[in-house]
Amino acid sequence: MQRLPHWIDGEARASDSGRWLDVFDPASGRAYAQVASGSAADVAAAVAAAQAAQPAWARLPNSERAHWLDALATALHARLDDFAHAESRDGGKPFALARDVEIPRAISNLRFFAHAATQFASESHHGEAGLNYTLRQPLGTVGTISPWNLPLYLFTWKIAPALAAGNAVVAKPSEITPATATLLGELAAQIGFPRGVLNIVHGLGPEVGEAIVAHEAIKAVSFTGSTAVGRRIAGVAGPMLKKVSLELGGKNPTLVFADSHWRDHLDTLVRSAFQNSGQICLCGSRILVERGIYSEFRDAFVERAAALRVGDPMDSDARLGPLVSQAHFDKVVAAIARARAEGGTTLCGGQALQRPGWFVAPTVIEGLGPDTASNREEIFGPVATLQPFDDDDDALRLANAGDYGLCAMLWTRDLDRAHRLAAGVRAGIVWINTWLARDLRTPFGGVGQSGLGREGGAEALRFFTEPKNVCLHLPAP
Ligand code: NAP
Repeated sequence: MQRLPHWIDGEARASDSGRWLDVFDPASGRAYAQVASGSAADVAAAVAAAQAAQPAWARLPNSERAHWLDALATALHARLDDFAHAESRDGGKPFALARDVEIPRAISNLRFFAHAATQFASESHHGEAGLNYTLRQPLGTVGTISPWNLPLYLFTWKIAPALAAGNAVVAKPSEITPATATLLGELAAQIGFPRGVLNIVHGLGPEVGEAIVAHEAIKAVSFTGSTAVGRRIAGVAGPMLKKVSLELGGKNPTLVFADSHWRDHLDTLVRSAFQNSGQICLCGSRILVERGIYSEFRDAFVERAAALRVGDPMDSDARLGPLVSQAHFDKVVAAIARARAEGGTTLCGGQALQRPGWFVAPTVIEGLGPDTASNREEIFGPVATLQPFDDDDDALRLANAGDYGLCAMLWTRDLDRAHRLAAGVRAGIVWINTWLARDLRTPFGGVGQSGLGREGGAEALRFFTEPKNVCLHLPAP
């Protein structure tokens, strides 16, 4: 069986303990590979390699670090199909989604931050106390911890700005989907990427993830994952006074107004609820619809959702693949049962597919109020609820009911309303008449239980650097 090692100091390594974990193919439910099961000892080895490599990496001109990231992007592009296959098998996502969207976005992350680092400027302040200017210095060795839902995309979204800013990285992908990060480690070694700058340690969150967070030499932790684990990481990093960036869960509202061109955008509306089987933190899982069009919208939406073909990720007609793991499948199936117990009516789906693997049919539920667990807790599967609203205030009340605040989608042609609601909705990101359109320069992140801090563009480069003010006395003229 294929074995996926750590990449530490530019070399493939087994764990110090010699342990391995099974990696499953979600489409069959069977183990197809094994991944190194790391521990604090492997994290310590990775940190030592990072610390040895970081000073020379930081001394390189920005343009040379940019060259290395660009070279990695080019090498990744040359192996796009291999990476897409690996991503699709590991996480169960349709091959086309991995090939056309997610791996290309990982390439863009590497290229974007390569160039962003050459454009990054710091401030200077004149006129009050001599000349003040701000140095932006790398932090040293940083940790990144990423989830299974967009494995390489979110992995590169973190390592690229960290490396571009002159840090060395100890990165932990999810042990559920370790394949593409491992391949990237291999690719980095093949192109001669400076050793020890990018270290990848696999293993369980409470062992490897927590060892990264707790290691004294790790100066900052960039985390994407669940709110519960984010809270735990904040609890470990807080007393150590470490910088943390937390990108957490969501329960995002999609607001559909009667004046919108919703019929023309039905494909995007359905995609925004069900892409990657709803396993995207930015999916709209609470669909709020103006009462006047509720019935018509519901019927059209349900018809389109029910027609989504669920199937093998390698089947080019399949729009949805399986859920990522047995544990996640069980959680989503239990959430559907809970929605029924709460009094919800299942309009389509509502069950697992009778076949091997962890497939759940796209499910739409109505009849549940804003205070139900179904409308408050993240399900992170192909499950969306529908709720009617009466006017703008009612829409905003429903949108803001809950503890999360990652993103919101507004569908309307009324510009006044769009801007008013965009300002009023509690979310870090608002899309108006679109979904998942991304400009990598924009701040990315959520409020409330959806996170702390922002990623993207200059925000990420600021997170991965320490500002130092330098004040120069200027004699009076
Ligand atoms: P998770 O269980 O929180 O895991 C995320 C990462 O943290 C994994 O690598 C995990 O390792 C690791 N981890 C677990 N326990 C840890 C600990 N005690 N200390 C340090 N690291 C630990 O999340 P997930 O189930 O993989 O991902 C789904 C969640 O991510 C959803 O809530 C989703 O909304 C959120 N998400 C948010 C964003 C965003 O940008 N806001 C983007 C994508 C996903 P193991 O895999 O070994 O457990």
